[in-house]
Amino acid sequence: MVIVSVLIERGTRALDNAFTYLYEGKIELLPYVRVRVPFHGKNLIGFVEKIEKVDENREDIEKRFGFSLIVLNEKNIVDESPILDEKLITLARKISSYYMASFITVLQAMLPPSLSPRSSSLKKPKIAYERIVEPLSLEEEGLTPKQIELMRLLQHGPIAAKRVPSVSALKGCIDKKRCRISLIEVERKKKFEGELEPSYPLLPFQQKAYEDILASDKNVILLQGVTGSGKTEVYLHLSEYFLERGGNVLMLVPEINLTPRMVEYFEHRFGDKVAVLHSELSDGERYDAYRRIRRGDAPIVIGARSAVFAPLPNISLIILDEEHVDSYKQENAPHYHAREVAIWRAEKEKAKLVLGSATPSLESKARALKGVYGYTEMKERVSGKPLPSATIIDMKLPSSRLKDSKKISRPLAIKIKEKLEKKEQCLLLLNRRGYWVGVECATCGHLWICPNCGASLTFHKEDSLLKCHHCGHVELYPSFCPDCHQKNFRRVGYGTERLDEEIKRLFPEAKVARLDSDVASSKKRMEEVLKDFREHKLDILVGTQMIAKGHDFPDVGLSALVDADIGLMIPGYRSAERVFNLVCQMIGRAGRAKIEGEALVQTFNPRFSAIRLGAMQDYETFFREEMRVRKEGGNPPYRYLILLSYLSKHLEKAEEAIIFTKEELEKEQIPFTRYLGPIESFYKEVDGRYRKSLLISGKDMSYLKKRLKEIADSFIKLGITYDIDVDPLDC
Ligand code: ADP
Ligand code: ZN
Repeated sequence: MVIVSVLIERGTRALDNAFTYLYEGKIELLPYVRVRVPFHGKNLIGFVEKIEKVDENREDIEKRFGFSLIVLNEKNIVDESPILDEKLITLARKISSYYMASFITVLQAMLPPSLSPRSSSLKKPKIAYERIVEPLSLEEEGLTPKQIELMRLLQHGPIAAKRVPSVSALKGCIDKKRCRISLIEVERKKKFEGELEPSYPLLPFQQKAYEDILASDKNVILLQGVTGSGKTEVYLHLSEYFLERGGNVLMLVPEINLTPRMVEYFEHRFGDKVAVLHSELSDGERYDAYRRIRRGDAPIVIGARSAVFAPLPNISLIILDEEHVDSYKQENAPHYHAREVAIWRAEKEKAKLVLGSATPSLESKARALKGVYGYTEMKERVSGKPLPSATIIDMKLPSSRLKDSKKISRPLAIKIKEKLEKKEQCLLLLNRRGYWVGVECATCGHLWICPNCGASLTFHKEDSLLKCHHCGHVELYPSFCPDCHQKNFRRVGYGTERLDEEIKRLFPEAKVARLDSDVASSKKRMEEVLKDFREHKLDILVGTQMIAKGHDFPDVGLSALVDADIGLMIPGYRSAERVFNLVCQMIGRAGRAKIEGEALVQTFNPRFSAIRLGAMQDYETFFREEMRVRKEGGNPPYRYLILLSYLSKHLEKAEEAIIFTKEELEKEQIPFTRYLGPIESFYKEVDGRYRKSLLISGKDMSYLKKRLKEIADSFIKLGITYDIDVDPLDC
């Protein structure tokens, strides 16, 4: 008999342990495959975590366990071979323990839909086959003229069955044993059709960074290169180096749709060796790409966060571009950060990890300074042009005001006009989408808020809808107030739609387009806008931070941050870092080629250091000042954080659970550990449950994690579930 430990597909905390089954079947059962298992009257998908062959029979085993067990056979097996190798399993275990996430949710995050251990995966695409006709004998004796024609066609090799000109001739030839039909695997993949291009020779400062990285004895190296210093070219050269030596390369980018450039560069350099893991891939394409990568047929993989799990057999280089960007962290469970996972993966597989950024995260920079990571920098730009520094416009000054505009200052308007006359392009960034940000009744004060989560609703003029940016709830724009039946609405705030409209009104001669996630929900529309802007068919591009990310627009003479204060109002220990990054990113978009670029930042808080230092592109000073703030506040990178949340249908229950947990943990007297809570969650959960949280900060979290899990688990049977975010970014 074989004793099998099976993880059940439900990621809930209550089921987060292996269940025991027995196996007796005609074929051998391997670990790390999926199985269909009966579970409390349901048929579910499980993942075989462990098998143990024993000499005992069923009766003995059941006697030993003290309960009866279900026996599985070969019909329960889903996969012929393991869906993950030992290295990725080890990585999954590490993620599960560090992030305190159930093992099965980690596996589900790692695998493509067709291979994921969940029931829905069984309906997903399998290997695609094509029927082909293969010649067996070219003997023409006894064939009809049509059959001879077919056989002559087959002389050149097999052809697809669907392309055979005559079905009856084919049947005849099969009957006469001249040919047969067989199945071959086909790959769902768009072929790369462009031309391969040679690499640029590296400039001296790029060459130095390249050599530093290769020579470093550290696994992880921080590459700090100002915007426009040509980091991509360094990545390409490094990739070439490792590929030539038989290694595989993993290239991670924050959002693949916003970085078509990176994909283009890699495809033009390496052609079909590249597998791109796009979010737009169909499930079939994703499945095929996954298997192609695992077979070793695609030694280079480019993708966003989840590509960090790409099953490359022999990784020797991982590059994480824009390492400071938040989208590397997954918001929902297992809440992993791709940077952290990449560090573990590189360590385990003895690969080099390059973290690239113009404005590294405080965590990475601090580790580089301490010598934990290797470090190299590029301070020059390929264009030879200095980094433009930004002019700050103090919106409080009367002289800044433009009579007929709410958001555009006089100096900004003058600059735009000047650039348009010189036929240069402008980028205007406003980090808030929609038209008005809130709507309220001017008579009684009724506020339109989301019925699901309590966030205020944003008006979108385009489709005349009120939308919740938090949970996606949508409703019609009201015609009267439900409380007082009046029709006087007060509309507050200002989003990209309104900015777009205002710019068109102020500069009627300019061609203006908008890019934010509303526009980007159509990939085609987004690509069009980016292409038109790059080809200078547009003069002004208005948008959210999307327009500040990694693009390379050569004709941009002005980039402006329309309201730098938006980010400052978002609470959380990282708000200054975010604003600083945004200002730097924005400035980096200007003057990348021949044009001398200029940048403007509009703010009501010109003295705020994130804005002031961002405008001067003074990363080092910002780093020092912000590190001091973090130290005083007991925040990362000086302390680790864990955010525990309880979810319950009853607000008081969640709150009581937090208080109990806090008291229990305090009894442990763990040094340097602090507890903040119960924290009110700003939004209600979408499924109607309430959330209360506890923020824990500390130095050594290992014992705390263990104790925390015990306490949190004890609430499950009371109907209170929990969510743990290790190293949360927003709190
Ligand atoms: P970064 O990502 O560091 O901001 P990019 O990688 O976008 O910078 O490079 C900026 C521009 O410089 C790109 O258009 C790129 O093609 C060009 N470039 C980079 N390295 C070289 C080089 N060695 N020779 C010529 N052009 C280069
Ligand atoms: Zn909502």
